[in-house]
Amino acid sequence: MPPPRFASFAIALPLHRVFDYRIAPNDAALAGTRYRLPFGNGVKTGVLLETSDVSELDPGRIKPVKERLDHEAIIDGHMLALARWMSDYYLQSFGEVVFQCLPGYLRGLRPYEPIRVKRWCLVKSDPALVAGLKRRSPRQFEICDALLKQPSGLTAIQLKQINPNWHAVVKALEVRQLVCWEWMEKPALEASPDGIPELSHEQHECLAELEPRLDRFAVHLLDGITGSGKTEIYLRLIQGRLALGLQVIYLVPEIGLTNQLIERVEQRFGECFAISHSGLTEFQRYQAWDRFRRGEVRIMLGTRSSLFSQCEALGLIIIDEEHDQSYRQQDGVRYHARDVAIKRAQMLAIPIVLGSATPSLETIANCARDTYFRYRLDRRPTRFAPPSIQLIDVRNSRFEFGCTAQTFTHIERHLAQAGQVLMYLNRRGFAPVVMCHECGWQSLCQNCDARLTLHQSVQTLLCHHCGYAQAVPKACPECAHTEIKHYGIGTEQLEQGLIQRYPDTTVLRIDRDVIASRAALKSRLQQLQSGEPCILIGTQMIAKGHDYPAITLSVILDADQALFSASYRSSERLAQTLFQVSGRSGRGDREGEAIVQTRFPDHPLMQALSQRNYRDIASDLLQERRLLGFPPFARVVMFRADAIELKAALARLEDIRAVLESAPGFDALSCVGPMPALMTRRVGRYRGQLALISQDYQALRSVLQQAMPALEQLAASARVSWSIDVDPPDL
Ligand code: ADP
Ligand code: ZN
Ligand code: ZN
Repeated sequence: MPPPRFASFAIALPLHRVFDYRIAPNDAALAGTRYRLPFGNGVKTGVLLETSDVSELDPGRIKPVKERLDHEAIIDGHMLALARWMSDYYLQSFGEVVFQCLPGYLRGLRPYEPIRVKRWCLVKSDPALVAGLKRRSPRQFEICDALLKQPSGLTAIQLKQINPNWHAVVKALEVRQLVCWEWMEKPALEASPDGIPELSHEQHECLAELEPRLDRFAVHLLDGITGSGKTEIYLRLIQGRLALGLQVIYLVPEIGLTNQLIERVEQRFGECFAISHSGLTEFQRYQAWDRFRRGEVRIMLGTRSSLFSQCEALGLIIIDEEHDQSYRQQDGVRYHARDVAIKRAQMLAIPIVLGSATPSLETIANCARDTYFRYRLDRRPTRFAPPSIQLIDVRNSRFEFGCTAQTFTHIERHLAQAGQVLMYLNRRGFAPVVMCHECGWQSLCQNCDARLTLHQSVQTLLCHHCGYAQAVPKACPECAHTEIKHYGIGTEQLEQGLIQRYPDTTVLRIDRDVIASRAALKSRLQQLQSGEPCILIGTQMIAKGHDYPAITLSVILDADQALFSASYRSSERLAQTLFQVSGRSGRGDREGEAIVQTRFPDHPLMQALSQRNYRDIASDLLQERRLLGFPPFARVVMFRADAIELKAALARLEDIRAVLESAPGFDALSCVGPMPALMTRRVGRYRGQLALISQDYQALRSVLQQAMPALEQLAASARVSWSIDVDPPDL
């Protein structure tokens, strides 16, 4: 009988260990393949890590695997090493991290199969035939017309953008033998020289300095004002990498991945890229992942988790808007995609380029420590500099749906000059407060410590934290009085007010309520692109990344809240938002303006924002952080617990604190808590937190490492769950 063979597996469980199983003697047992494993009374998927002839456990008690799922490794050695590092750095379970690195489609029991993509084409490229469809079957015409313009054909994802019900239409066209499909082969690299702008002097200098440094690991920061042409530099860098046969990962914030950017990349690189974002199905993201992995496409353009795309020849990682909060994953495995990307680049000895007009203070501090290369771009290649921020003192003003007369004057002047106006209000719904005029009753969520927001179009009070919804009461539930009033302004009310005030102007709203689909977003962005005068209202979805040259005025309505926020990051975030929003205007051939309504025009931060540039403000904010001992000058590890009762959550944190206290070195750290979280009740659960803070990272690590084995014993249950958050975005 051949000797037994064992293998260790990563399983997506919140346990910091691997699991041993017995494998057949003739099993190829490739690291990085998945197996079905018996687990308890059920089965789980595991990724094979390594094999061995011996096991530390009693061999008789080790169960055999059930079945192998993959014939090739779907996670390579480098990605497993990165997962190891993440698990170690973020103190998350290795098994969960490994599965996080895989596309959602492969986290279950589906076997891996290489994906082939279908592409539909016209059987005959005949404009007259296509035109003939126009009257009788407009839907067929629409698709045939698009195929006429794209002789190489269109994929399902592309067809869906034309018509969400494309499938039925294409089927009918196939029956009529007007359209056929083929398997998509590896696309040729078709860079089109049309429309590539001549580099500005600054862009040229930047590339000249950067390019010779691309042969090794280094972090490069493009610290360039809004509209200074950073995207153009990314595209040139990509071009250079592709020419060497290398591949590139290009990450953008969740909302930054608009058709505008996709079109720009497509125009430059033909079909040589894959797209991945949360608006796609799991299967589509898997398709993108697989095509990049097999080298069929050379560029992966996507949001946060696209960082985990594998390939043969990664030659560059780009992180656009590196300061953006969407790079931070807040639930499940907690990590920061920018920081993991830097580690990945270091492990592969390849360069990484970060870009932002408003870099995070962490990144600026790293530049100051001289570990990053920093390139400054202070001019727009187009005609005008970004506008400076003008404050509008609203202390004694009358408001109409959140705007003052002075604001209207600005809006009207810009509309009269055929400009587009962008209005930023980061609060969706109609009004954030609903209150009884008689007794002061307020509409509160039954699951959270939060007010319900009035959504008038659907006559609903809605909780933005847990989704709880109820009808708007006709009378006060406390005193039965019927005079129930709302206070404050949301985007829905602003839209309604502006439509009434400017009946001849197009008013577009972009927020989560109206952008249920990417198609809805696309149609609005197309209107902006058309350059027709209009007013665009939006939440943070419109703050970043967009490049619409006809916008000449940015209006920021509710900046004041951030001045008095409890978060130590609020000043940084306010500065980033104001510079990003104001930077949307004046990108074309007309000068832009930016105005901010405020009740606190004398507040030092407001003064700074209106008089100084982001770089100087950021360096002051950093100084402040240093004095106060906040990150990046201190490191924080946050423990959070939640339970059906606050007492239970806090008790669990006391247990955690006790474990930490027993680790040598604890006394040198500061430990804050346990205490209730800022919003104590959320989604029906009470939440508490405990922060471990130190200026000495090694000391912090050492305590945690010693405490980890005992912490793992504090198993989570349905009653009390808890988690660790390393480098949390807030305290
Ligand atoms: P950023 O990414 O820094 O915000 P973009 O690369 O989007 O800037 O550039 C802003 C605008 O300027 C875009 O419309 C872009 O097409 C244009 N642009 C960029 N570089 C040049 C250039 N060298 N010459 C002319 N226009 C340029
Ligand atoms: Zn009342
Ligand atoms: Zn709620």
